Amino acid sequence: MEIRRFFVAKQDIAGSVVTLCGDEFVHMTKVLRYKVGYKAIVCANDGIEHICTVSEIGKDFAKLNIDESKVVDRKSVEITLFAGLLKNNKLDFAVQKAVELGVDRIIPFTSANCAENKFSQDRANKIALEAGKQCGSAYISEVGELIDFDSLIKRLKDFDDVIFAYEFEKEHSVNQCLPKGKKIALIVGPEGGFQPDEAKRIKDVGAKTVSLGRRILRAETASIILSALILYGLGELNC
Ligand code: SAM
Repeated sequence: MEIRRFFVAKQDIAGSVVTLCGDEFVHMTKVLRYKVGYKAIVCANDGIEHICTVSEIGKDFAKLNIDESKVVDRKSVEITLFAGLLKNNKLDFAVQKAVELGVDRIIPFTSANCAENKFSQDRANKIALEAGKQCGSAYISEVGELIDFDSLIKRLKDFDDVIFAYEFEKEHSVNQCLPKGKKIALIVGPEGGFQPDEAKRIKDVGAKTVSLGRRILRAETASIILSALILYGLGELNC
């Protein structure tokens, strides 16, 4: 039987006993039909994986004993993807794939050409949690609240390097612009792309513009490709 992964808050771990409740309890017992004696991996978003055995299943909680714990190396960089808000919840797909790839944080933004302004951060974080469990991550990637374009520009100064996927870039590809430093920001626009003055403001704060090739990619495709190329270029997709 596949050993499944569950995330808890740090305060749910007391000594060598884990208490699982809420959605993760429902997922373990109602969806996966876990029984006493079953094995599970439990993480508290601190880079430690606890291999556990279910010791008790109550009405709305489960107790697990920690059999073994191991520290999981964190990536050498922290990647934040700023993604333009997309119509019809298409950003959900980009969130799921970015988390699978190892992006640490996804922050949606609105800009002049955004055709959407509704966003559910709760739903997106549920997608991120499920993607993190599925791909075996020891850390939960987070989805931030929706910000506007001015806030995006302000936030970029917090990063060591900013890589901006810009379809009108004709000189630089990703492999010529691999980011330096630990805190890296990636930027992908919405379906309608950026207004020229918006693209200029992103460049004016020092973003490196990169082309993802001659084809115009859908925004969700560009988010995945840019994340994958950067992570691969930084050696984070090696075995
Ligand atoms: N200007 C595009 C058009 O003519 O359809 C609209 C924007 S594109 C659908 C959405 C976003 O994906 C862009 O803002 C950009 O960030 C990224 N993107 C798409 N294709 C790209 C490419 N070939 N190179 C770099 N970025 C690209």
